[in-house]
Amino acid sequence: MLQLRSFTFNPFMENTYVLYDETKEAVIFDPGCYEKREQQTLQAFVTAEGLTVKYLINTHCHIDHVLGNAFVKRTFNVPLLMHQFEIPVLKSVASYASNYGFPAYEESEPEHLIDESDEIKFGNTVLKIRFVPGHAPGHLIFYNESAKICIAGDTLFQGSIGRTDLPGGDHQTLLDAIKSQLFTLPEDMTVYSGHGPETNIGLEKEHNPFVGKRARF
Ligand SMILES: [Zn+2]
Ligand SMILES: [Zn+2]
Repeated sequence: MLQLRSFTFNPFMENTYVLYDETKEAVIFDPGCYEKREQQTLQAFVTAEGLTVKYLINTHCHIDHVLGNAFVKRTFNVPLLMHQFEIPVLKSVASYASNYGFPAYEESEPEHLIDESDEIKFGNTVLKIRFVPGHAPGHLIFYNESAKICIAGDTLFQGSIGRTDLPGGDHQTLLDAIKSQLFTLPEDMTVYSGHGPETNIGLEKEHNPFVGKRARF
């Protein structure tokens, strides 16, 4: 059975997710760990559960989601997977990390470029991928159909959506992508977002003020 553990790291309160199944193989999404104690928290969980981390995956490459990339790659000796459109987003982080208060930020590079035609396989688990641009140019979401778990990054939040005022962002693109790519998933699929609590597709279709039935914006 697919299991999920979340951690909230760094001053942006970013959610880092570890997915793993009965084989103890795991993938780590968007490691936001920056401080030593945050890194130790993540490593201690992996060790305590006896997990073998197979991949590091970025839904997108804003600073809050990649602060722990280099640490995770080095510690677990895993390749980084992301969409090619996020390469410039990732590269630019080094230029502004200090200004944001992260002088010890370490750069990282992807080993594999992925898109919505790929699948992520680890243990007995398959994750499907959808392309949801608008918050970031190469934003991907990942979901498992049987466990009904979706890792949504900064596309859809409980009662909100991702901001679109950053470079590569576009409001209408995000609205369209959420409706076509997220709202076509099963209504009882749990959505684990990059910030804040989890929600599900049905709830957001009904109540989300940006993209729901009674959207006000
Ligand atoms: Zn973001
Ligand atoms: Zn974020």
